[in-house]
Amino acid sequence: MKVTSAEIVISAVKPEQYPDVELPEFALAGRSNVGKSSFINKMINRKSLARTSSKPGKTQTLNFYLINELLHFVDVPGYGYAKVSKTERAAWGKMIETYLTKREQLKAVVQIVDLRHPPSKDDILMYDFVKHYDIPVIIIATKADKIPKGKWDKHAKVVRETLDLDPNDRLIKFSSETGLGKEEAWAALQSFMG
Ligand code: GDP
Repeated sequence: MKVTSAEIVISAVKPEQYPDVELPEFALAGRSNVGKSSFINKMINRKSLARTSSKPGKTQTLNFYLINELLHFVDVPGYGYAKVSKTERAAWGKMIETYLTKREQLKAVVQIVDLRHPPSKDDILMYDFVKHYDIPVIIIATKADKIPKGKWDKHAKVVRETLDLDPNDRLIKFSSETGLGKEEAWAALQSFMG
């Protein structure tokens, strides 16, 4: 897909603030520092529209990006940040749960993991949570440029096994440095857009 326009439309904390339009939506989830902002920026050909995950203590928001006047990316605050307080963690959980369970425009969750390492406990919890609500999921295994090509498949297998991925769920090897997987990721998203 050729992206010709991308802009942030709102940072929302509650459903009344979600954009009141019927466009298809994709939620981007991943642990802090996994490369989620870089993934979004690569997909929309921007250097820094999406910011690095907000640090704890800052208001955690769902950031809605309008792309080509056609769809929304919803940047979900990164999870698994060790220094987050219990209260912040609970608020994060509530906000995500509300969004994932109530948003009719949501077509799929794009879960970003690191191809180099086995998914973390939080990655597994996130995947299980999404599957529990029967929401389609696409796994993006990023930072592929940091390991030799010959090892990609071996690492992808570890990611699949650790998440106990449903055989029907897509896993796409990605690199925000080289653009690997970008077209494949767009094709996967478009397959949910009808
Ligand atoms: P976020 O916290 O998940 O939004 O993570 P960022 O997108 O800010 O990325 C965290 C760090 O990883 C930054 O230093 C990025 O430059 C780096 N990074 C992200 N994606 C890639 C990638 O595909 N390849 C490489 N080599 N580095 C990456």
